[in-house]
Amino acid sequence: MTDTKSFSPEELRKLLRERFGLQDFQGPQLEAIQAVMAGRDVLLTLPTGGGKSLVYQLPALALDGMVLVVSPLIALMKDQVDALRAKGIAAQYVNSSLDGPERKKRLQQAARGELDLLYVTPERFRSPLFQELEASMPIVRVAIDEAHCISEWGHDFRPDYWRLGSVRRRLGGPPVVAVTATATPAVAEDICSSLAMQDPLVIRLGIERENLFLGVTEVDLAEEKVTILAERIAAMDGPGIVYSTLIRDLEALHSELRRRGIHSLVYHGKLSSVERRRMQERFMKSEREVVLATNAFGMGVDKSDIRFVLHAQVPRTIEAWTQEVGRAGRDGKPSWCELLYFKEDLAVQQNFINWSNPTREYLFSVYETLRGWGERLQIKDVDDLRDELLIKNRADNRVHLCLKWLEVLGVTEGSFETNNLELVRELEPGELPDFVGSEGKMRADLEALLGVAQFAGGKGGCRRVALADHFHLPPPDGPCGTCDLCTDAMAWRTERMIPRPLASEAATANESAAPILEAASSKPSFGAGVQESESDPHTKPKSKAGHSVSGTFASQQAKQSARRDSSSDAPADTRTRWERGDWVRIDGRHMGQIIRVEGEGRATRLIVESASDLRLRKVDPRRKRVERL
Ligand SMILES: [Zn+2]
Repeated sequence: MTDTKSFSPEELRKLLRERFGLQDFQGPQLEAIQAVMAGRDVLLTLPTGGGKSLVYQLPALALDGMVLVVSPLIALMKDQVDALRAKGIAAQYVNSSLDGPERKKRLQQAARGELDLLYVTPERFRSPLFQELEASMPIVRVAIDEAHCISEWGHDFRPDYWRLGSVRRRLGGPPVVAVTATATPAVAEDICSSLAMQDPLVIRLGIERENLFLGVTEVDLAEEKVTILAERIAAMDGPGIVYSTLIRDLEALHSELRRRGIHSLVYHGKLSSVERRRMQERFMKSEREVVLATNAFGMGVDKSDIRFVLHAQVPRTIEAWTQEVGRAGRDGKPSWCELLYFKEDLAVQQNFINWSNPTREYLFSVYETLRGWGERLQIKDVDDLRDELLIKNRADNRVHLCLKWLEVLGVTEGSFETNNLELVRELEPGELPDFVGSEGKMRADLEALLGVAQFAGGKGGCRRVALADHFHLPPPDGPCGTCDLCTDAMAWRTERMIPRPLASEAATANESAAPILEAASSKPSFGAGVQESESDPHTKPKSKAGHSVSGTFASQQAKQSARRDSSSDAPADTRTRWERGDWVRIDGRHMGQIIRVEGEGRATRLIVESASDLRLRKVDPRRKRVERL
């Protein structure tokens, strides 16, 4: 098996059929796989959903040894590995979601040569246990997922990725296969040089998905955005994502949609990891849920039926936008991607650029502050540090970036979050990479933002031509016919998209505050919270003042009563039960909506989304006064 060149295309196809259940390779997969098999370094840029992972997974089965996969996506590793194991492939992952003994067990498995694939986060290379065992691991290839994170010019640079070049050397220089969804020529070059690739095979493909409508709508007033977004969501059924940089914009939209009887999920970095995971799971399993999210949402979201991706804020780079809209329509069906362009948003993004580029002096002041605290460091937290550095804006992220650099460089160990942050050595001025805090980096970021503004302006004549220009890829032959500059946007949408269903006005006559049943599910199993989104009714609010909320849900009830009656295993008296969708007041003060009911009888717990801060809280109805509204 070690003679890698002995695999003919037919033999590789056989492996593909037998182990992955796929008939044939797509696009550049075979060419890339043959290069990986032959031990050549490979950089592959393929839109998400294009089958990048096969390019290292298949060689992992054919080669004698293990492929080490580096990925930043902790949330997805388990799913990826489970899918491989279900195919009988010896894959495993190691990340911070596992406890110490389990991590050790899996790393030892890898060291004994029992695995074909091992998935790790880049942070893992700093672990003493990994370092101890890595020499024993039969690593024949290193695969790097989301490789654009390596490039300091990329839109999602991560300090831990910056180390991967030296990690590769440390591992004895195995051939590397780097994959990402988007890379300009400059980013691609940066990836190759950071990883010290030798004569790499570079394959770059852009968005060639003709089912995606690409459009930009300029707005003159910030307030217009919410109206347009709410209209779009009502006009298009199916799962969708709305991106914004500002959490307050997402919350305003959430309220507006609720007013219109449309349920939405909110996802941002201020939610706990448990809440984020729950939101993501609900979205992944739903057929109709809309998620309002910051760009923290979506890396690795592989849901094929996303019907629209709307941007309420200008993204910081065309690469980021391309990657985000690329999440729509992977099933090949018509899907809508629209950017709302408001000139003043550029100022918001400039702030974010400043906050993501701390100067070297700033980084040293963070370090000096930590050093000045000495022993007291253990009782401090990140807010103390922000106060010390006079940071006023919550979105100012510089402190976190500086702490990350200190950690990656090995100057600190532990973290504020786990109350064990400590300085373990001194920071030498020369050890920071040159690009940290450099003028060039800041200028490049601002130029990238300007590129988005120019793209929004639409001077290119066709969105796809402009994108091809940006990525230095061949343009489409003639007008694409699926962008706002080539065709009538409204006509395209009305011809292809189905409006989100709304309850009939007549139904609102029923003013009952009775509980709402799930529309689609025939089984009132409320523990299955992830499914509730599929059955979320989207109803129009009643105009009657003061009753819009209960009116909304009362109308759903009327609409759905027929289904309830036909639901054979529904309990006889559902009125005494708490139902998903119920609006409740807790202890006479906090208003919220039940998004899930867990347990039964005395063990019943309500998962309530608070109307004030949109957070989820678990409520024991036997201990709290819960009134149905
Ligand atoms: Zn076009």
